Amino acid sequence: ARCPLVHPAAPMQPSQSSAAFDVAVMGSVVYDLIAYVDTAVRPGETRIGSSFGMGAGGKGANQCTMASFLGSRAAMVGKIGDDLFGQEYMKYFSKHGIHTEHLLMEAGASTGVASITVTGGGENTIVVVPGANFRLTPADIDRAAGVLAAAKVVVCQLEVPTDVTTRALKIAREAGAMTILNPAPAPVTPTPPELLALADVVCPNQQEATAITGLPCTTDQDVDAVLRRLRDLGCRLPMVTLGASGVAFLDGDQVLRVPAPAVEAIDTTGAGDAFMGSLAHFCACRPDLPMAARVSRAVRIAAISVTRPGTQTSFPHREELPADLRD
Ligand code: ADP
Repeated sequence: ARCPLVHPAAPMQPSQSSAAFDVAVMGSVVYDLIAYVDTAVRPGETRIGSSFGMGAGGKGANQCTMASFLGSRAAMVGKIGDDLFGQEYMKYFSKHGIHTEHLLMEAGASTGVASITVTGGGENTIVVVPGANFRLTPADIDRAAGVLAAAKVVVCQLEVPTDVTTRALKIAREAGAMTILNPAPAPVTPTPPELLALADVVCPNQQEATAITGLPCTTDQDVDAVLRRLRDLGCRLPMVTLGASGVAFLDGDQVLRVPAPAVEAIDTTGAGDAFMGSLAHFCACRPDLPMAARVSRAVRIAAISVTRPGTQTSFPHREELPADLRD
């Protein structure tokens, strides 16, 4: 099932309802390779692991898949290599009906991979090799402009070069799409103000919010100050995810808080991506709802994802959801 018709007179409205895509994501595609061992591996040591798993990952791909699982017509813009992992990811996207015309496969490049070791105690070490993700150029994005301009909502993160993200948001903004920036992972250099001003919604987690604003983001008062600072930096609708505490955002001059439902969390990897992809979906497909209602639905879907193992494997599909989260 696809998105229902949109209400024409809605606040924070995405572009025209005749758009070809509900959600286009420009961002990273990473293949996760996960080795499970009893205890942490020391430098120089070779160890026999207990099991191995592979999984589709990368913040961009995760968010795109989430929106697609909920029923959005979704497109992925990014870059992979022509290796085994790139081919697997292509098959995976087409199996889920995600548009990949501008998921470029570069000859000789390696697909982004994350080599993850998980110990019995649940401690992870992760090495991410961005590979093809860092070979994306602004010229690639110009060629994908047709897809970005044909989406109601365009979502970006910071796992590809910053000038590439800036170009994508600019094209989307000029085309009248609603733009969402998830500034993750936490930027190590100052975030260009231009980038923040090009997004309608800017949504970091607490660590990322601190990296961007230089302010602590722990107490309620901290969160209020962070949201106002983000507004001063040019964000139209600043939002912060607060883990088990839910989400806070600035609505006009008022801070609104959407608590997360209490659940038994077993694996919170990808919770932020579940939230972002769901928010993009509800912004595209339910612009008739106030922002607080869209956020509340996305928070409920992220809460389901933390009760299941894995990243994309933990994301619920539309068919599994209670009726009030389906449309
Ligand atoms: P990230 O995964 O990027 O670190 P957060 O930890 O803030 O981001 O989680 C993102 C969202 O996922 C939260 O805003 C919340 O809605 C949901 N979430 C995360 N952890 C839990 C939890 N323990 N219980 C319920 N919801 C959660």
